[in-house]
Amino acid sequence: MKLFDLHGRVAVVTGGNAGIGLGIATGLAQAGTAIVIAGRRSEKNREACRAIAAFNVKAADIEVDVHNEASCRSMVQSTVERFGGIDILVNNAGIAIRKQPETYTLAEWNKVIETNLTGAFLCAHAAYPHMTNRGGGKIINIGSMLSIFGASFAVAYAASKGGIVQMTKALACAWAKDNIQTNAILPGWIDTPFTQTARKEVAGLEERVLARTPAGRWGDPRDFAGIAVFLASSASDFITGAAIPVDGGYSSQG
Ligand code: NDP
Repeated sequence: MKLFDLHGRVAVVTGGNAGIGLGIATGLAQAGTAIVIAGRRSEKNREACRAIAAFNVKAADIEVDVHNEASCRSMVQSTVERFGGIDILVNNAGIAIRKQPETYTLAEWNKVIETNLTGAFLCAHAAYPHMTNRGGGKIINIGSMLSIFGASFAVAYAASKGGIVQMTKALACAWAKDNIQTNAILPGWIDTPFTQTARKEVAGLEERVLARTPAGRWGDPRDFAGIAVFLASSASDFITGAAIPVDGGYSSQG
């Protein structure tokens, strides 16, 4: 088998209808995998599927709210019914509520943790028996620079993304015996709808990111195609529990 060939595989990308998720879905489609685009907004899901279909792979849109357990399970079940199984799960859906910790309500805290961290666990939990049926699988969780660093405006987000790294390691230890590799990607600052809002809400962010990033630019969703194909393919079969920055050097800068 060719190292990076994904023909015959089935991938689900949560939050695949925009930003980094769409960059990942596009990369996986170019490598030949069938794609499920899963997000809350059906029209955006369908639009992303139309773009993916240009790569001559099967693409399906499924409405999901990862904040809801039944919805996560139904997304996995629908994928299996449509495509016969699931080989690759990308837990990318995520949100942030940017404000000082002392102004957080419990409901806001829970919403961020339950979407970013619990949602990823639920999707992995639902996918596990189907991956073992196929003799293995690949789980790719999306962390953040705030998996490593703190930020005054991101208490729940940073906690959720730190949790993503530790959950990735624990799943890697538990499921290596099942030939399931679980890894995390830690994006630097990437130009997406998510950070377009952040740049409006956090004064000076645009300039601070540019000054700190050795590559001298914001990242682009297309920067995630290569790492996603690598972590989804047999080229990474002995890599599990890793958290890999894709950040233009941001986390290496002292
Ligand atoms: P976007 O806001 O551009 O996209 C977020 C995606 O998540 C959308 O497709 C959205 O679709 C989906 N989503 C949000 N909430 C839910 C939910 N409850 N259920 C299902 N889908 C949901 O964000 P980015 O592309 O920038 O970010 C993607 C991931 O990367 C996130 O986990 C984010 O934390 C992380 N990240 C981003 C960075 C950046 O600089 N952009 C840096 C570090 C990490 P819909 O609204 O249709 O549900």
